[in-house]
Amino acid sequence: MADLSQGRSNVPVGGSQAAQTQTISGSKGLDFAEPLIFEMGSEGRFGVDLADVEVSNDRLNGQRRADKIGLPNLSEPQVVRHYTRLSQKNYGIDSGFYPLGSCTMKHNPRVNEKLARLPGLGDLHPMQPTSSVQGALELIDSLADWLKTLCGMPAIAMSPAAGAHGELCGMMAIKAAIEARGEGETRKRVLVPESAHGTNPATAAACGFSVDSIPANALGRVDLDAFKAKLGDDVAGIMLTNPNTCGLFESDIIDIADAIHEAGGYFYCDGANFNAIMGRIRPGDLGIDCMHLNLHKTFSTPHGGGGPGAGPVVLSEALAPFAPLPYVVHGDDGFDLIEHMSDSDAKPFGRLKGFHGQMGVFVRSLSFILSHGADGLLQASSDAVLGANYLRCQLQDDMSVPFDGMCMHEVLFDDTFLNDTGVTTLDFAKAMIDEGFHPMTMYFPLVVHGALLMEPTESESKETLDLYIKTLKGLIKKVKSGDVQFFKNAPVLTPRRRLDETAAARKPVLRWTPPSDED
Ligand SMILES: *Cc1c(COP(=O)(O)O)cnc(C)c1O
Repeated sequence: MADLSQGRSNVPVGGSQAAQTQTISGSKGLDFAEPLIFEMGSEGRFGVDLADVEVSNDRLNGQRRADKIGLPNLSEPQVVRHYTRLSQKNYGIDSGFYPLGSCTMKHNPRVNEKLARLPGLGDLHPMQPTSSVQGALELIDSLADWLKTLCGMPAIAMSPAAGAHGELCGMMAIKAAIEARGEGETRKRVLVPESAHGTNPATAAACGFSVDSIPANALGRVDLDAFKAKLGDDVAGIMLTNPNTCGLFESDIIDIADAIHEAGGYFYCDGANFNAIMGRIRPGDLGIDCMHLNLHKTFSTPHGGGGPGAGPVVLSEALAPFAPLPYVVHGDDGFDLIEHMSDSDAKPFGRLKGFHGQMGVFVRSLSFILSHGADGLLQASSDAVLGANYLRCQLQDDMSVPFDGMCMHEVLFDDTFLNDTGVTTLDFAKAMIDEGFHPMTMYFPLVVHGALLMEPTESESKETLDLYIKTLKGLIKKVKSGDVQFFKNAPVLTPRRRLDETAAARKPVLRWTPPSDED
């Protein structure tokens, strides 16, 4: 068996912290050091008692396995404990505060889960005949209606599977619209503000556009003059995140929309941060041509670790004809799906994925919307903004805010407060883990140095926020007292300490090899 206590000590711990954190077993408190399942058990141990199989004649022409299959040898209680312990290592929104800026990690009301598991919804198959899934199509249609109403936009594409996929959808619609105007060869440039989410320039580039960056002004917003200076008849559009990744509302957004339209371009808005404005502002009124919504952020749904998500895209009159297949229509005999170009009255640019979208996420989102009601959605976005500003007001004298004034649903700090202390943003975040808090988003957005971006969402209680504030203030006091080593050591209370994340990403070890094969 691997020596598990080793992996915990990959950073030397000095003084009294060491005495506290080293244990004989490698476990700490009731948090167990858990080996891989292949490293446990012993030869010949089983959880079941099956009779040997009589093989009378060999029908495999001598190809039968000669070696052992190499499965773990474990009893049932060992298996149960192993997986139970692993499940307990998963930190999520159900276990604690998750203030990851830009991610909107909010509570998932259990009524959503209950509805998503109704047999009539959970057991649907996407290839059932439409006559047998009228309820599901109605659900997609009602959700589409709510989203169009909340956004003040006339059309929507429901199929994109995530935010970045929605961006791809929107930019492909823009490309199709430009090609339909006969300007596909000339309009090749997309303007992307410095404070954009990384997926924005990536999407523009993936669609074959060149990316032209617009600087931010001293207030953390798009520099309007710099933007206007970049306009020309080779510009396809702008991709703007609003509220932007600094958690700030783009106050010149209407001027930006007017100017891009005057120049013949389209306005893509990254609407992943809709949790800040839902029910208060309609993007359609701002002059936006298309915008994705991250259903898995604003409208709850468990997410993180790669899914599931859904990124429907609302579209203006100008872009609506180019929306992708498939889409739901009201037919003569109820709801129908338009699946093929030949059945469409419009000019769809194509299809983005198999089937009709992320049904499980649609159910949860509509459940979230209907259980909140219009007034509840407005309350949710208002509380999200209130929570972020509460953190800002409580922490701004101890930490440093790069941009003054109110923020939206997330608050951005920079690392000026750590200047000349020897403690970095990373060290500070690691110390938060020992205190039982998932760190905020770090080093993003790139427009400020050593960024710390916090998004409390509307679902955190004041008690949680107060404990978080008290903890951060305590840590800052420790920074100021010069206890650098405390931060360099952190985290000391976790199953693993600081990992070599670059090596893990660049040289992942994806396969376990038995110790005997290693040499
Ligand atoms: C989360 C996010 C995205 C990407 O969404 P995914 O669902 O992760 O693809 C894009 N833009 C912003 C501003 C985001 O916060």
